[in-house]
Amino acid sequence: MLDRTAAPAVEVRGLTKTYGPVTALRDVSVSIAAGEYFVLLGPSGGGKTTLLRAIGGFHRPTAGEILLHGKEVGHLPPDKRPTTMVFQAYALFPHMSVAQNVGYGLKVAGLPKAQIADKVAQALEMVSLSPFADRRPHELSGGQQQRVQLARAFVLDRDILLLDEPLAALDAQLRKDMCLELKHLQEKVGITFIHVTHNQEEAMTVADRIALIANGDLVEYGGARDIYRAPDKAFTAGFVGENNLLAGRVAGLSGDSVAVDVADARLRIDRRGLRVAEGQEVTLSIRSEAVRLSRDTGHLEGQSIAGTYTESVYLGLTTSHRVRLSDGTEMVAREISERDDAPAPGTPVVLSWAPGTARLHVE
Ligand code: ADP
Ligand code: MG
Repeated sequence: MLDRTAAPAVEVRGLTKTYGPVTALRDVSVSIAAGEYFVLLGPSGGGKTTLLRAIGGFHRPTAGEILLHGKEVGHLPPDKRPTTMVFQAYALFPHMSVAQNVGYGLKVAGLPKAQIADKVAQALEMVSLSPFADRRPHELSGGQQQRVQLARAFVLDRDILLLDEPLAALDAQLRKDMCLELKHLQEKVGITFIHVTHNQEEAMTVADRIALIANGDLVEYGGARDIYRAPDKAFTAGFVGENNLLAGRVAGLSGDSVAVDVADARLRIDRRGLRVAEGQEVTLSIRSEAVRLSRDTGHLEGQSIAGTYTESVYLGLTTSHRVRLSDGTEMVAREISERDDAPAPGTPVVLSWAPGTARLHVE
């Protein structure tokens, strides 16, 4: 259960981690609520694993601090933190049954047998694996093995689960199924999940909130839908969804609106409270599915731009219509594949969008 009144499950303040000349993380601060499904998303090498492992206590940060449930944990080793790491490779003991695998941590901790049996039964119930308690790992599917790992984390009563690319080893279909399963499990158990992935669809499927991490920086973080629909930074727009990124120059300001010159069009766009000056170079982002294609080259009034049709790419459910602007920029309008009348290459066309769909970025 999401509890915003309690101390955050995780509070990271000014975290920096360097490896010799490499800065893996640079002054990262983020707060994760108890009971939240939080995703660290970004390109490979960006610093996601470094952040996750810092939270779990697997390395010492170069600077900054980490509070778990309000307590500073810098001095605590992994097994003294309320965190547990789920590893990507299925780290199950092949010679032990599912139940023995799940109970192993408790046995090591010296719990009485009856208590272990209870907890294991509960955990297996939680991940819908009760009928499989006596099987060996090799008699399970990949997805089921993953659930054994989750059950193993649950019995330890750690309430912050760290998952580093937990689905990366699975094939596409299983990945989708497991993704939803993880989401449902988290809702059911109500503990905090912090899930690392470079896959934005996976992130959108499971996350309450998403943090974008790239080049050692936490670029921005927010609700999964907000990150998709209303990214603050151009980088986020480029990484999440399929956005058209357009380079432009500020031509004028009037109240809440900015005139931006892109190719041969003057676009009108919401200023979003950003500080911009005339002549400044900015980036606009417009999601491809928000762009409409038409042959009507008549009207150009701030939410549209003219170009030349180059090609259509049929993707099944949707078709991408590619259009070249006068400055050579390629734009994409993505529509449900229902029309069979794509313009011929070379046809002059107009791309347009609803007011408020295009976003202004200054970095
Ligand atoms: P991600 O998980 O986003 O792919 P990582 O956190 O693994 O990124 O890595 C971030 C950066 O830190 C990379 O440039 C990586 O090469 C570097 N790095 C990570 N761990 C180490 C290490 N133990 N020694 C040296 N460099 C490292
Ligand atoms: Mg990683």
